[in-house]
This record gives sequence, structure tokens and C-alpha cells, in this order.
Amino acid sequence: MRPPVLFGLFAGLDTIQGVGPKSLKLFQKLCGNTILSALFHLPLMVIDRTKPPFITTKVTVLSHEKPRSRKQPYKIHCQTESGLLDIVFFNYRKDYIIDQLPENAVRIISGQVSTFSGRTQMTHPDYITEEKNKDQIPLIEPVYPLTQGITNKMVQRILKTALKCIPDLPEWQDEAFLKQQKGPSFKESLLQVHHPQKASDVSPMHPARMRLAYDELLANQLALALVRQKMRKLKGIALPGNGQLVQKLLKNLPFELTAAQKRSFGEIETDMGAPFRMMRLLQGDVGSGKTIVGLMAMLKAVESGYQACLMAPTDILVRQHEATLRKWCDPLGISVVLLTGREKGEKRREILHKMADGSAQIIVGTHALFQENVQFCKLGLVLIDEQHRFGVDQRLALTQKGERVDVLVMTATPIPRTLALTYYGDMDISKIDEKPPTRKPIDTRVLPVSKMEETIQKLHHALAGGAQVYWVCPLIEETEKSDLANATQRFETLEKAFPGRVALIHGKMKGPQKDALMQDFIDKKTDILVATTVIEVGVDVPSASIMIIEQAERFGLSQLHQLRGRIGRGSAQSVCLLLYQAPLSPTAKKRLDVMRKTEDGFLIAEEDLKLRGAGEVLGTRQSGLQSFKLADLEFHAPLLAIARDDAKLILNQDASLSSPRGMALKNLLYLFNKDNEVKTIHSG
Ligand code: ADP
Ligand code: MG
Repeated sequence: MRPPVLFGLFAGLDTIQGVGPKSLKLFQKLCGNTILSALFHLPLMVIDRTKPPFITTKVTVLSHEKPRSRKQPYKIHCQTESGLLDIVFFNYRKDYIIDQLPENAVRIISGQVSTFSGRTQMTHPDYITEEKNKDQIPLIEPVYPLTQGITNKMVQRILKTALKCIPDLPEWQDEAFLKQQKGPSFKESLLQVHHPQKASDVSPMHPARMRLAYDELLANQLALALVRQKMRKLKGIALPGNGQLVQKLLKNLPFELTAAQKRSFGEIETDMGAPFRMMRLLQGDVGSGKTIVGLMAMLKAVESGYQACLMAPTDILVRQHEATLRKWCDPLGISVVLLTGREKGEKRREILHKMADGSAQIIVGTHALFQENVQFCKLGLVLIDEQHRFGVDQRLALTQKGERVDVLVMTATPIPRTLALTYYGDMDISKIDEKPPTRKPIDTRVLPVSKMEETIQKLHHALAGGAQVYWVCPLIEETEKSDLANATQRFETLEKAFPGRVALIHGKMKGPQKDALMQDFIDKKTDILVATTVIEVGVDVPSASIMIIEQAERFGLSQLHQLRGRIGRGSAQSVCLLLYQAPLSPTAKKRLDVMRKTEDGFLIAEEDLKLRGAGEVLGTRQSGLQSFKLADLEFHAPLLAIARDDAKLILNQDASLSSPRGMALKNLLYLFNKDNEVKTIHSG
């Protein structure tokens, strides 16, 4: 339970006078709906009202120039100490103007000036006051990120109240560390960041900002460490195996494992053999050969007398895995069954029966495996594919089912080291960082969209040779005013050139419909798959050797990399064409250059991080991965490793967070919504 001292911070913004349901909704969109979320909404920069383009000056009103029609602006001619100045109002209220700026009045005004037909003018001053009130004009003002309908003044007003709601909280940071960093207290830091005195006060390196960033990172690392601690406490099953099945599999493989595959399996083997719970991430680029390693782990579980299951996010993927696993398991005499929502009736009962009596040794399925009332006989290992859509919370949920199974997660998202720490800090990581030597490099070319006709012509030849094509368009019809290439339109063009050979698949289709179209493509009933980015998730069609991405400049690097990973799987030379719409922005040009030059997913992820910043790298689509509000990893990444070590040390000394500092740290966890992680402390 959240402690009462924090209640005020978690009060809704609508408890502030002047915030109605309408602005509450807007604030919610902008920053969240609590007082705390407003406090965590930090200014981006400052306005200095003493420097161009701003001026703050004394004026004497000379005359009013009333417009002849409502469309024209209302102008007020003024005298300043350094010359003439016109104040200009559009959409004005006459009464207000006359009231504020009567002729002959002396006023202090502040705003941005520009020159119009040789005259200096200020449109809609930010401030107009009488001389005696001039102190009311802030010369330095924070500027906040805004959204339509919320002005900077509204944010400032809210914060004025919010800043009064911060309680004095016991310090949770190590005093010595704080001193060394010259960091103020949490409360003082918030006050400082919202009252910048000069431009450098909004720098990420300002002590108050650093302190808050570190608070957030420590909360993140401590939360992950708590989850990790909880898992370590859970007793697991030892799956020592005797190595026989794995040996047989290796003998049957037509290739040698890469050194990275061997090393990763070694790490997995050690974990599985020990009587605690494995919680390991197997990270490897698309095509690096994770599946075989996962299979070896499953065979090890089977050797040990247990069942193993493999869970994947879509029906298509599950079916592909099943085919692969059968290919390798049938010769070993190991039974593989498949269970998704689509297995029904008698067939389903039969599968469930086999799972329950243990005659099914390896089970492949979707979420249905865990959601429904499915019984395993003796489950030892859960293997999860492509799980970058899962967050810590879901992993926690999986373990809270009370089963003591080992968990191995395979992900193809190459995450830079710094980010891996923030999202997977609760897991051990094995990395397959080399590709099978048999994989041919993909020929990647960057072309202007004007080469489209030519490209389509060349496809005739490629298709005749048995190649299949992915054709990716950015979006479908959902952005009204945008000029995005429309997948439907492209489908129609291509269908004219290749009648009956083209399919269109997009995000608005229902799962089964998508799956059916994918299956047609796999079965070579169609040759060209026009798609929005839905093909991103791990399908394997070896004869698809051509990838065309339209408006490639609109995609992020990681996304382009994931898409390209769909080809280069068969024996044919693969080609990836990145079609762009000129002119390219410098960043877009860099992105496409990176794609042309390398296929190394980790390198691409690092470049992506540099070009876009940490918040975006994992994409909003991959829900469950939160981004930071106060920390900016571009600047604060070095603090992350410190926070991780700090978190480790804290839990070593005080595993239940019951010392005075431990109690204070619980407040920190609540402030960053780590309620679930706090719960792990008390739930045994
Ligand atoms: P991913 O990591 O994307 O899941 P897969 O496991 O699907 O990659 O492997 C891609 C292809 O490479 C598969 O056809 C697999 O059989 C093959 N493969 C895996 N390991 C090796 C290896 N060491 N040498 C050659 N081919 C391999
Ligand atoms: Mg895979």
C-alpha cells in the first residue's frame, strides 16, 4: 500500500482549482493526471525576456489604429525609449485592449518582436502591466513541452500549486554519494528544475536534474533487482539431463554450431542444472540461430524427465516452430504437439490429454497455453519466442503462477547494452553475437522513388526465377491528411502487373485473416506480399529473397533492420531495396547509409540510439517497456551502471528494505509506480 505521506502527490490534477474535466483530459495526454506527473513534466528550455527575440520594455501608448474590417489586426502605436513600436492583436477583444492600453498610458510590456514593413512590432504581448507591477513579469521563464489546448501559462499555473504539494521525505539516497554529486534533496530538486534562473539550469547535467534522473534510474534498477531477488528465492527444479538427446541432435544437424551458440547453450545448461529458477534472455539478431539453441534447452528438459513448451506470439509463428521442431525431433523419437486457440473439439481434447499424461514431451503454442485451463504433466522449461512485447510485469506474472519452471526468453531485438540493463536487469543474458557462416550477405540498395517503374519491371524476371517479394508500405489509410504511400494503392498497381500473384496484408485486419494470407505466401500461392509493418515479427519464408521498402526514410533504423531480417534466409542472393522520397533529411540519410553499410543488429541498435535517443529506440509499439520521464540516457547513461550496483548493494544489506534508508527507498519506488515490485518483498 502506498504510504499516506505520498497521497498528496498522487492526487488528481483536477483537485487544482481551475482544472476541469476538459483540461484534465489534455493534461492526461501531455504528462499524466496526478500532481506528481505534472511535477515530473520538466521544462525543455527557458525564455530569457531580456534577450532577442524577446524584449521587455517600457512603452507610452501614442494612438490606436482601429482596423477597417474584422479581418485586419488592431494596432497600437507606442513610443519606447529606443524608438517606435507597434503592438498588434489578431482576434482581439476591443474592450480588453482599450482597458489595458488606453492612449497616453505608460506600460511595461514583454514579448517577441519582429519587423514588419520596416516597423518594429510585437504581436500579442505575453505580459502587459503597469509600471508599479513590473516585478510580476518573470524575466526568465521555463518553457514546457505542450500539447494542443494546453499553453505554457496553464502548465506554469498548475505547477505553482503542484510545487506546494511536495512533502518533506526522508532522504533515500546515500548521503556520501549525494554530497559527491552535489545533489539537492528530492523536493529541493523539483523546486529548482521548475524555477530555472538561467539557460544552463535546464541542462541535463544540472545537479538537480542529475539527482532526479538518478532517482528514476535507481527506482528502475531497484525494482528489477527486487524481481530478480524474488526469483532467486523461488526454488526451482534441477534439470541436469544426461546429454544424450542433445548429442544426437547435434549429430543430425547439417551444420556446426557457431561459437556463440555453443557459449550460450553452455550458460543455459549451467542454469538448468542448478536447483533454482532460470530466468534467462537469449538475445540474438534475426537469423543468428536462436531456435536450435532453444531446442537444445528443451531436449535437456526432456532428458531430465520433464516436458518443455515453446510459446510464440502468433499462430503463424507457432506453426512454423512446430514444423521446425518436428523436423529435428521426429528422428529422436520425441513427440511434439501444437496447441493454439484454433485446435478445437476432439483434436483439442486429444492434445490436452497428451499434455496431461506426459506423452507430449514438447508443446508449442500461443498464449493459450497459459491462459486456458491447460494441464501439464511435468513442465520443466518454458521457452518464449520474440517476447520483446513482454515487460517486467508480465514476466513477474508468469513466475507468480507458482510454477517452478525454468524460463528462457528468446528475443531478436538487438538492444544496446545500456538499454538491456534497464529492461532486462532482472534477467541473465546470453548473447548470440555471430551469424551462421552459411548466411549470405544481403545486397542493400538505396534508391529514389522515381525508380519504382523500373523496379517493378525487374520483378518479372525475379518472380520467373522463383523469388518471392515483400513489399512494405508505411501505413494504411489511417492518417487522413498524410501523403504516406498507400498500401492499397500499391497493391492495385502490382496486381495489375502480376495478376493473381499479389496479396495485401495490413494492421487493421483480424488475426486469422492475416494468418491465412501469410500462409498463402508461405505456400507460394502468392508471390508478392504488400504489407504494412505487420510482417515484422519472425516469419520464416526462405524463398522470399526480395524486400522492397517504400518511403524507407520514414522508418526507424531498428524497424528497417527487423524488416530486412525477413530475407536472406534461403540459398538465393537476397536484395533489399530502400526506396525513398527526396529530399532526405540529414538524419534520414544517415539511417539509410547505416542500413546500406551493415547488417549487424547490435551496431544498428547503437546507431539508432545515437540518432534517436533512448526513449524511442524500442518503439511505442512494443508495449510494456516504459521510457524514462526524468532521465535522458543520452546524458545520464553512465548513472545507470552506478544505479545497478547501488541497487545490488542496497538489497545485499537490507533485502526487505526495512532499515530507515530502506523505508525511504520504498517511498522512492512508489513515486515511480513500482508498486508491484514492492509487493514482492512481502509475498514470501
Ligand atoms: P533466429 O535466431 O532468427 O530464430 P533461426 O534459429 O530461425 O534464427 O535460424 C535461422 C536459420 O539458420 C535456420 O534455418 C537454422 O537452421 C540455421 N542455422 C542455425 N544455426 C546454424 C549454424 N550454426 N550454421 C548454419 N545454419 C544455422
Ligand atoms: Mg526466430
